[in-house]
Amino acid sequence: MRITIETKARPCPGVERAVSLAEDALRRGERIIAVGELIHNSREIGRLRQLGLEIVSSERFLKPESRKSFAGAVFTLRAHGETEKLVRKAKEYGMRIIDATCPIVQHSQDLVRQHASEGLGIIIVGAPDHPEVKGLMERCKGSGTVVSTPQQAERREFEERSLLIAQSTVDPDLFHEICRILSHRLSGLKIIDTTCRFLRTRKSDVKAFAEEQDMIILIGGRHSSNCRLLFETARHVNAQTHWIEKPDDLDWSWFKNGERVGITGGASTPKWQMDEIRSVLENHPVKTAPRGVKNKKGGTLLWRMWKKPKTKK
Ligand code: SF4
Repeated sequence: MRITIETKARPCPGVERAVSLAEDALRRGERIIAVGELIHNSREIGRLRQLGLEIVSSERFLKPESRKSFAGAVFTLRAHGETEKLVRKAKEYGMRIIDATCPIVQHSQDLVRQHASEGLGIIIVGAPDHPEVKGLMERCKGSGTVVSTPQQAERREFEERSLLIAQSTVDPDLFHEICRILSHRLSGLKIIDTTCRFLRTRKSDVKAFAEEQDMIILIGGRHSSNCRLLFETARHVNAQTHWIEKPDDLDWSWFKNGERVGITGGASTPKWQMDEIRSVLENHPVKTAPRGVKNKKGGTLLWRMWKKPKTKK
C-alpha cells in the first residue's frame, strides 16, 4: 500500500481562526461556552473540551436559570455564525462575546441585513437546518427563502426583486445552476456569489488528487457539509472513496486492491487526524489477513502478500 496525504489538505482559515480564538481564551483560564459544535469536527471538539471548552444545547442556554450558571463566562460564536437571539441572550447574561464567526459568513449576514431592510426578498441556496442558514434566515426578518434544489428554484414563488446568495459551503455548481434558473424567472434578481473561495479551490484540488489514487480516505465530521461536498467530488472520479471520522471507521476489506491510498480531509480536519490515519494504515495489523491463510512456518500472511493459488484444470 502506498500512502499519500494530500499536500493541500488543511483546515480553512475560518476554522483555524475559531479554534485559535477558543484555545487562546482557554489558555488564559477563561470559562468558554459554545452553543452546539464550534466547528464540524467532533474529535477536534473533543480535544478542545479536554482543554475546558463547554458545549451546551440552545435549549439549555435559553432556559431562565442559565443566567445564573453562565454569568461571567465567555460566549463563543461558532465559525458558521450564530443567531442574533442567542447573542442577545448571552449579552443579557452579562457574558463576554468572542466572535469566531468566519468573515465570509459575516459578510453574508451583512448583505442579508442590508438588502432585507431595502425591501428585497432574500433567496439563500443551502440546507435549511444548517446553522449558517438558520442565522441568515433570522436576519432576513421574514423575507428569506431557502432553496436546496434546482426543482425548488423552478417551482417556488419568489419576490420579483430579490437577492440571491449561498450558504458558504454549498456546491458552487448547484449555486450556478440555481442562478441560471432564477435569472430567467426574476427580472429584478441581484446575484452575489457567497460560496467560499477556499472550498471552491479545495473541490478542484480533491478532484485532481482522487484521480491519481486507487482509493481515497476522506477524514471529517459526519455533519460537515463541506466534507459531503469533497466526498462527493472525490467519489465522482474515484468510486473507492470512503468518508471516515476516526480510525475505528476503517474497514480493512476496502483495501484488497488499494495500492495507492490517498488521505485527505475537510475544512475542519486538522493535520493530526490525517497523520493518525497514515500511522494506522502503516501499522496495518497482521490479523486482517484472510482467515485460514498460513505461511510456510504456520504464521498468518498479510492479505496484501497473499495470492490465491491457481487451480489445476
Ligand atoms: S469553509 Fe469557508 S466560509 Fe466556512 S469557515 Fe471555512 S473559510 Fe469560512
